[in-house]
Amino acid sequence: FDQMDGEIWYNGEFVPWADAKLHVLSHGLHYASAVFEGERAYGGKIFKLTEHTERLHNSAEILGFKIPYSVAELDKACEELLERQGFSDAYVRPIAWRGSEMMGVSAQNNRINTAIAIWQWPSYFKPEERLKGIRLDMAEYRRPDPRTAPSKSKAAGLYMICTLSKHRAETRGYADALMLDWRGRVAEATGANVFFVKDGAIHTPDPDCFLDGITRRTVIDLARARGYEIIERAIMPEELEGFEECFLTGTAAEVTPVSEIGPYSFVPGEISANLVNDYMQAVQPLRAAAE
Ligand code: PMP
Repeated sequence: FDQMDGEIWYNGEFVPWADAKLHVLSHGLHYASAVFEGERAYGGKIFKLTEHTERLHNSAEILGFKIPYSVAELDKACEELLERQGFSDAYVRPIAWRGSEMMGVSAQNNRINTAIAIWQWPSYFKPEERLKGIRLDMAEYRRPDPRTAPSKSKAAGLYMICTLSKHRAETRGYADALMLDWRGRVAEATGANVFFVKDGAIHTPDPDCFLDGITRRTVIDLARARGYEIIERAIMPEELEGFEECFLTGTAAEVTPVSEIGPYSFVPGEISANLVNDYMQAVQPLRAAAE
């Protein structure tokens, strides 16, 4: 991945992809003082760009550092890089981290580095494929108590347990894993939020110790626009048996129906199908406008 063609925006400059390097003594690598974003461009336009950039700034603030570029500057850098890369449908990965000037837990004065990489990511829309649903394992790790970790920051360190859970799920033949929270309530997948359907209403966990995803909020608005009832509440794993449909939401996942979680089965139905389509429509004008 580090040898691709193209450019990476690195501390204000466009550098050749393979030259965007950092020192092995970077604080961000040793102590996970890094925050990032995941964004998607459709038809040459980055969906909800400013919301993502604001979340990046906020994630850094939660970790006690300030990104030395304004939201407007970063938005512009993302847009310019997308254009220079020449992609229409792509994934956008901004990241900011503490540098290598000091080595130790304390690194108050280390430089805050910022980079943006963009790679091609076609958005294939095959509803019939999607509606088969994916299979989720139950994760062994739980989302931490907000008193244990800065759970509202999209911080690199919080992804350690996501990678462990996702790898374990893949080894066991699943696509992803459902994580509970520190209290044993249903939380989210390793990189996406989760929703359930029962008796025509949509239930989703309160996002009190994990990311309230930008896609999650978009899908809630789309569901309400259709007149569906949205119930945000504590959901216990024992309830999984009683839900009819289940789907994940996220920038990468978009709306992805789920067919199984451990021993429980779901049948992606009308509500999942409608929201898969509505989300595609919501990002579609961006593509249409660019064509
Ligand atoms: N939870 C986690 C752990 C994630 O990594 C993501 C992806 N950023 C989400 C939820 C969904 O967030 P969004 O819809 O903003 O992409």
